[in-house]
Formats: sequence, structure tokens, C-alpha cells
Amino acid sequence: MRTRLLILVTLVAVSLPAQTKRKALLIDGQNNHQWALTSPVLKKALEDTGLFTVDVATTPPKGQDMTSFKPDFKAYAVVISNYSDFGGGGQWPDETKKAFEDYVRLGGGFVTVHAADNAFPQWLEYNKMIGLGGWGDRTEKDGPYIRFRDGKFERDTTPGRGGSHGARHAFKVVTRNTTHPITKGLPAEWMHAKDELYDRLRGPAENLTVLATAYSEPATKGTGEHEPVLMTIAYGKGRVFHTILGHDVDAMRCVGFIVTFQRGTEWAATGRVTQKVPKDFPNASAVTIR
Ligand code: ZN
Repeated sequence: MRTRLLILVTLVAVSLPAQTKRKALLIDGQNNHQWALTSPVLKKALEDTGLFTVDVATTPPKGQDMTSFKPDFKAYAVVISNYSDFGGGGQWPDETKKAFEDYVRLGGGFVTVHAADNAFPQWLEYNKMIGLGGWGDRTEKDGPYIRFRDGKFERDTTPGRGGSHGARHAFKVVTRNTTHPITKGLPAEWMHAKDELYDRLRGPAENLTVLATAYSEPATKGTGEHEPVLMTIAYGKGRVFHTILGHDVDAMRCVGFIVTFQRGTEWAATGRVTQKVPKDFPNASAVTIR
């Protein structure tokens, strides 16, 4: 009897009935990255948690009329962006931008993945949501760099470009916040698979918490700074998780990427993380991939 009960409990934990899963919306359709390849990876990662059902909202292609792009954000616990207008891509209609601002401000969850933080340099509220962004003529006019120096984070208003990266390589991620639900229980340091380490991101950086950094090595054309890698931002009542990781499908095979994305999305949706850190999570010396 006891065994049966245990099995039942286990089944419930692994796969919630569809009606009790949280609804997630993944946005793609334009990006200077291969969104058509990476979106299925992101969708699967969330579905693998057993916590989410995932709908995908794909915008019209670059150069085409965007007025039809009007997702019902309110219907979702969390919105994930794999979208960027980098390089002359489409702006969401004003009505959609306003609906998205209202959605997050009133308590919605938002997750920005890698190049989604290149998007919309002119849209101030979006930049408040992502905290820091890159490229798109971002400079000191858009906000400070966030620097980790002498054991603490500081705002650096030095003039200069916003957004760059050195050569692609595997790098070590350092957990800087060990009490936040997303990073609680993760190793103090872990190796991330070959990826772009974004550097010199700039933005409003209001209500921003850096959860993890990575040292940007001058040897790989980096900045010599500890660059923010995982962040959270409070926007009104909304929760935003920002990961700079995930340039391509190979980078997304990193268990560190997958798990922090899964945990960050659950936190953005609910304010909690119920997922256990898996045994194959990378350590400080070796990358693990799935
Ligand atoms: Zn990239």
C-alpha cells in the first residue's frame, strides 16, 4: 500500500494534468539568430519540467506588416522572448507593446533569452524590463554598465558602447546570489558550454539583481570584467528573468543553460522554484550537455 502511494505521488510530481500546468508563451519570428532552430529547444526544456504548456507566437517575417501580431499576453503565466528586431526587424504594434507593458507591470512573468536583450533599443519600458541590453546604438545615454568590483555590484556610467562579445568559448559562471530561488542550491561555480559571453551591456538597470556573473577574459577578446550572466528585474508587480546565455542550439545543450532557464521561467511565472537541481548539473571543472 505504501509503495503504491509513493508511486502515485511520484507520478503526480512528474506530470501534472494539463489543466494544472502553467501556460507559457514563447515569442519568435525575427532574430539575427536562428530562432527557428532554438525555439523548439526552449519549448522542450519547459515542457520537460512537467510544469508548463507552451504556445508559440511567431510574428510575421521581417519586412512584413506586423499589425496582426497581437498575442493575448494576459492568458499566460509567463512570456519568453526569443525575438529581436536587430538589423531593421519589425516593431511590435504600439497596441501590442502597451499590452505587454501592462501585462508585466500588473504581475506577469517575462523571460528574455540571449539576443532578445538586443531588441527594441528605442522602447524605454522594454529596456526597463530587461534591465540591461546590447547593440542597437546603445551607449551611456541608455544607462550604466553593472560592474562587480571589490566584492560588490556598482553602476558604472563611463561613456562607451553597450553590448559586445569576444570569441566564443566555454566559460565559468559564478553564482553571486545563493539565496534567490533561481540560484539557491546551484554550485558556486559551473562551466557553461561554448557560447557568446555578452559584455558591456547597458540599460536602466532599475530594480535589477545580478544572480551570476562570468569573467570576460582579455585573452578571448573580453573586457577583463565580471559580466552579468543571469539577472532578475522587478518591473511593477512583474518578475523578469534575464539570461544572456543561449546563442545557438549547441550552447542550449548545456545542462547549466537548460536548468537555469527552467528555474528562471518557473520563478518568473510563480515567484517560486520547485525544481530540484539535477545530478548532471555542471561543476567548476567540466561542461555537461544533454
Ligand atoms: Zn549570439
